[in-house]
Amino acid sequence: MKRRNVIKSLSILPFTGAIAAKASTIHTKEATPADAPKRDLFKELGVTPVINASVTMTFLSGSLMLPEVLEAINSTSKDFANMYELQDKVGGKIAEMLHVEAAMVTSGAACAMVLGTAACITGLDEAKIKMLPNHPGPRPEVIMQKTHRYLFDQAVSTTGAKIIEVTGADEMAKAINSNTVMALFFNAAEKSSITHENFLKVAKAKNIPTFLDAAADVPPVENLFKFQKMGFDLVTFSGGKMMRGPQSAGLLFGRKDLITAARANHSPNEAPIGRPMKVNKEEMFGMYCALKSYLERDHKKEWEDWLQRTKTIGTKLETLPTVKTKTWVDPGPANAFPSLFVNWDAAKIRTTPKDVVAALKAGTPSIVANHRGDSLQIGVVLLRTDQIDVVANRVKEILQKAVTA
Ligand SMILES: *Cc1c(COP(=O)(O)O)cnc(C)c1O
Repeated sequence: MKRRNVIKSLSILPFTGAIAAKASTIHTKEATPADAPKRDLFKELGVTPVINASVTMTFLSGSLMLPEVLEAINSTSKDFANMYELQDKVGGKIAEMLHVEAAMVTSGAACAMVLGTAACITGLDEAKIKMLPNHPGPRPEVIMQKTHRYLFDQAVSTTGAKIIEVTGADEMAKAINSNTVMALFFNAAEKSSITHENFLKVAKAKNIPTFLDAAADVPPVENLFKFQKMGFDLVTFSGGKMMRGPQSAGLLFGRKDLITAARANHSPNEAPIGRPMKVNKEEMFGMYCALKSYLERDHKKEWEDWLQRTKTIGTKLETLPTVKTKTWVDPGPANAFPSLFVNWDAAKIRTTPKDVVAALKAGTPSIVANHRGDSLQIGVVLLRTDQIDVVANRVKEILQKAVTA
């Protein structure tokens, strides 16, 4: 096309959106005849597709996005949007859905931790926002229970804050001083010396904002409402775990002034600490759709489907000599859903759960499962419907080979 013609056709575009859309459909059709093989990017790049018979893990790409999320990503990719307005609208809607003052989409729960901490340090002080993670005075302090320390708290120290470890409510009260900016509660910690309620009581008495990390703590869906009701000022959940939004999206919600400050520390602003943690437009729309869909889902039915999956796989495996299976529900709060435990008599089936896990991984298709104690653990919640039998058959095949005569 000559330049003049390009300009000509561009100039009519805004008035002929419908025609342009139609034309592009036709063009796509011409480019890929119906009988042409579909492009397989896994194959093209030599990437191994994996069946996840475990739990959501970032190294294994989180979860599979819901069809409505993919639809949202595609349908919103054709127009530009002002990112401030988009975060306003998406955040506003999410806040409404979760019964909180304000909310925002972050690039995962880890980003929410950086932004939440940054918000508590800077407020709306532009000079401070520009300076982070450096501070002219003493380092800001974030209180955590000693038993709550975990790998993800590096997201807190990324802001320049220092983590102060405490044990028990008295020690927490004593540790709070003029440098304290926030108190962080890791919801899925194995041990707590301070309950949620006491933690809130101590922090509130000293006017310290509280942040709860519940990244992997749905299901149950009620958890999306529970902690703001308890009184936590900020709460985060991952978007790309069981909510099945984009893997790189997450939710931060709670007090309006803190969300406003968190946003001031985030993209699309150019200077702040959160600038390298941007969320694209499509993922914001996608995260909204994932949350909406999660809230509207029939959770009871989904749970029954998961139980049925463990039964289907269990029944198939128990046709092998000495094999016993058991449905187990993780008490949570993280990964609180059913999986299947498989055991057998090692004298009859000469292999170990660890070796079965290795064989599953090395096979085609590659399947990721776990061994736990002396059991094989098969996760069911992340399987596509068509993968339930595939997993059952592969495990059966591997065990069958090891049966002694
Ligand atoms: C997964 C997880 C995170 C990080 O969440 P992303 O959404 O992957 O950034 C933080 N904290 C806990 C407890 C998690 O399980």
